[in-house]
Amino acid sequence: MKNDALRLFFALGCPLELAEAISTWRSSLHLHGRPVAAANLHLTLAFLGQQPRARVAELQGLAGGLRAKAFELHLDRLGRHRNGLLYLAPSHTPEALLELVERLCSNLSSAAIQLDNRPFRAHLSLLRHCPMQAIDADPCFDWPVTRFSLFASEQSTRGTHYRQLHTWPLLRNDLGASGTT
Ligand code: ATP
Ligand code: MG
Repeated sequence: MKNDALRLFFALGCPLELAEAISTWRSSLHLHGRPVAAANLHLTLAFLGQQPRARVAELQGLAGGLRAKAFELHLDRLGRHRNGLLYLAPSHTPEALLELVERLCSNLSSAAIQLDNRPFRAHLSLLRHCPMQAIDADPCFDWPVTRFSLFASEQSTRGTHYRQLHTWPLLRNDLGASGTT
């Protein structure tokens, strides 16, 4: 990676406690493949790819001006992509998540940042190179999503690491009585 460029993406970083619960559950399935580290579990909202470092301040301004609602995400579906990526997904994608992605992508387009036009599919990558195998699992993880973040994806000898550059709160009105933290 060039020094003046960062590999950037907006995502929902999985809260530590939930990431540990998912990781423990995943271990209990004794699957083959390369697990995504618990600290790296996330749900990508928009992938920007290589961007000049100098652009981060502009991206922060652009995301900071975005108003979107907090929501509950129920990860209750296990899927496997043709390329062997095993993922967790919601069987129903909340409207508020779709709105967040739509507003983010629209702001990015206005700033002339190119995104690929594949449709958004909410998923949390669990394991790479997962062979075809019957998996007896009935996942059910509830994630109160209250923030979104900008990450830089970095490579080192220890593998891929996502560095959180900035995080923004989502509006909490709709989370109900339990959404007070
Ligand atoms: P690695 O590539 O090192 O195995 P990774 O795929 O998680 O790990 P990145 O390639 O930096 O790391 O990607 C960061 C995030 O952006 C991941 O969630 C990845 O799925 C997503 N992503 C990467 N490339 C694209 C793309 N072209 N379009 C949409 N999302 C992408
Ligand atoms: Mg990748």
